[in-house]
Amino acid sequence: MAPPSEPIETVVFDGRALANQVRGELAEQIEELVKAGKRPPCLAVVLVGDDPASRSYIKGKQRACSRIGMEAVEHLLPASTPQAELLELIGRMNADDGIDGILVQLPLPDHIDPTTVAEAIDPAKDADALHPVTAGRLLAGRYDIASCTPLGIMACLDHHGIELEGRDAVVIGRSQIVGKPISLMLQLRNATVTMCHSRTRDLAAVCRRADVLVVAAGRPRMVGADWIKPGAAVIDVGVSEVDGKLLGDVDFEAVQGIAGLITPSRRGIGPMTITMLLRNTLHAYRARCAG
Ligand code: NAD
Repeated sequence: MAPPSEPIETVVFDGRALANQVRGELAEQIEELVKAGKRPPCLAVVLVGDDPASRSYIKGKQRACSRIGMEAVEHLLPASTPQAELLELIGRMNADDGIDGILVQLPLPDHIDPTTVAEAIDPAKDADALHPVTAGRLLAGRYDIASCTPLGIMACLDHHGIELEGRDAVVIGRSQIVGKPISLMLQLRNATVTMCHSRTRDLAAVCRRADVLVVAAGRPRMVGADWIKPGAAVIDVGVSEVDGKLLGDVDFEAVQGIAGLITPSRRGIGPMTITMLLRNTLHAYRARCAG
C-alpha cells in the first residue's frame, strides 16, 4: 500500500498517565466513602503456586489497591492445592461481607479447571470478569463490571476522542478476556466490527479497512505498516518476551507516521488493565453496599 500523501503525526498513548488520572479519581471516591464512615472496598487475590510472573502481577495489583486506599487480602496457596480446597476458599470469600472483589490469578496448575473456578466466584464479586454471568451481561448490552483489558481499551479510545459510531473496527484475537468482549463493546458503541483469528483469510486486507484496529494475538510484530489504514487508531494488546525484550503484536516503529494513534507495548494498555480491576472492585462494592 502506498504511504499516505500527507504525513500523519502519530499520537502515542500514555497508558501510565491515563491510569494515574483514573486511579486518582477512584482514590477520591474511596476517600469520600471513608469520610462518610464506610469501610473501604476490598479486593481478595488468590495465587495457586509460585510462578514468579504471577507473583509479581499480584504484588502489582496489591500495590495499586493500597495506593488508592482500597484494601487487599492475599491468599497464597501451594501448587499442590486440590481444586476442592480452592473452591471452598472461594465459597468462604463469596460469603464474607467484607470482601467486594475476588481475583484468582491465572494460569492455574493443570489439575485445576479455570472454568470451574470462574463459575464458583459470586458474579457480584467478579472483579476480573471471568464468570459467564458477567460475560452474558455484556452480551445482553447491560454491563457494569466487565473484562479489564477491554474496559481499558475503551477508556483509551474515549480519552483520545476516537469516534466509533459507524466506523470500521477490526479485532484480531477471539479470547474470552480480550477479543470477544472488546468486539461487543465496540459494537455497543455502533462500530461495525470484524472479528479475526488464526483462520482468517487475507488478514492484512481486512486490517487495512480498519478505522480502529485492536490486536490481541500474542504474535510479536505480526502487524506491519502496510496493514494500517492511514490515520487509524491502533490498539496493541499483545505482550511477548523475545530475547529479554517486551514486544507488542504491532511493529511500533514502522506504523509511526501512518497510524493516527498507537499504544506502546510498555506503559500502554497494561496499566489500564490493572486500573479497570480497581474500578470493577469499586463498582462491585457500590452495587453490594449501595455506597
Ligand atoms: P490468547 O492468547 O488466548 O489467544 C490468541 C488469539 O489470537 C486467538 O483467538 C487466536 O485465534 C488469535 N491468533 C493467534 N495467532 C494469530 C494469527 N497469526 N492471526 C490472527 N489471529 C491469530 O489471547 P489473549 O489472552 O487475548 O492474549 C493475546 C495477547 O494479549 C497476549 O500477548 C497476551 O499476553 C496479551 N494480553 C495483554 C494484556 C494487557 O493487559 N496488556 C491483557 C491480556 C492479554
